[in-house]
Amino acid sequence: MTLAVHLAPLPDELLSSWVHRTCHANATSLYSLLWHHGLKCYAQVDLDQCKNRKLLLWLARELKHPEGICGVRDMSLLPVLEMEKGFPHRSWIRGIDRRAFKWRSFRYCPVCLSEDEQPCFRRYWRLDWYEICHHHQVQMFNACTSCEAPLILHRVRWHKSHLARCYSCDADLRYAPNRVVALDQSSMKAIDDLFFLMDHRDKRKYAAIHFLEAFLDQWRRVQGVDEPVEALETIGVHIDVGFAYSSPAMFLATAAHELWQLDKKLLGKFISNHRRWFNLAVRDFQCPAVMHPYYKSLKWSYDLNAEIINQAANEISKTGREPTPARIARKIGCHVSRVENFLNG
Ligand SMILES: [Zn+2]
Ligand SMILES: [Zn+2]
Repeated sequence: MTLAVHLAPLPDELLSSWVHRTCHANATSLYSLLWHHGLKCYAQVDLDQCKNRKLLLWLARELKHPEGICGVRDMSLLPVLEMEKGFPHRSWIRGIDRRAFKWRSFRYCPVCLSEDEQPCFRRYWRLDWYEICHHHQVQMFNACTSCEAPLILHRVRWHKSHLARCYSCDADLRYAPNRVVALDQSSMKAIDDLFFLMDHRDKRKYAAIHFLEAFLDQWRRVQGVDEPVEALETIGVHIDVGFAYSSPAMFLATAAHELWQLDKKLLGKFISNHRRWFNLAVRDFQCPAVMHPYYKSLKWSYDLNAEIINQAANEISKTGREPTPARIARKIGCHVSRVENFLNG
């Protein structure tokens, strides 16, 4: 049995959402699909946390993911599992299937679902901390509002019009009553950190960010600074204010890196409640040495200009090689497409 309909994954979509959506469109279920391919043994697996390469490869091939197994992996929660290892006392991922006790089944935002052309479930909805939709600032639900049944995607039968239906009473989850709640600064910060973390599955970089954040924190304490942007300005470090607001975690890290370059002695006086990150970063990940290429790209991600490109090209030419976009990109530590876009106008 091969699938007739292949759906493209939607932005931020959860792996299991995409898989069940595709099965739904083909009027089949994941169980029968696995059964037909002799993979019945995987029927009970939580797809989003599945590390089995064989199954992931099969999904990528059978459901035709445009980016193959890497794309499939990116839609799952494996990067989060990887991060979670640093915090052994708790799980960040909400349950599903048999483990879906009502209070831990994953949440949904009715407004997000109602805005979708084809209702799809987001990756971050399965994170334990994520309780309020940051797009709509509404309280999310973890069960059907009519019958209290938990959200279980694989039980939604194919003859239902879409996945956002309660498997038990057939209520449309998109019409759940929504309650608007105000998000405070700290929860926005938590959400920001969360997405940052999900997009940066490299643990070394994550440790590096915390290392630098801690460094900035230390600097602020030692110097008694309230407004880091202004204080940085007075000592000659210029940070784009818009950037500081649009991406606070990145801003902290960038600012800290600048400062660290200016005053490495601060490092010696390090005492802070981020000590754990500091230890992790220095001992296990050889920080701050590993961060250089990364911060180069961070710093220039918002001010790539002709001067930087020319300088890099000159340095490459001096060594007798041709300055191709790939070499320039490597030199300045950014993605090759950025350089190409710049050179092409
Ligand atoms: Zn929403
Ligand atoms: Zn229901």
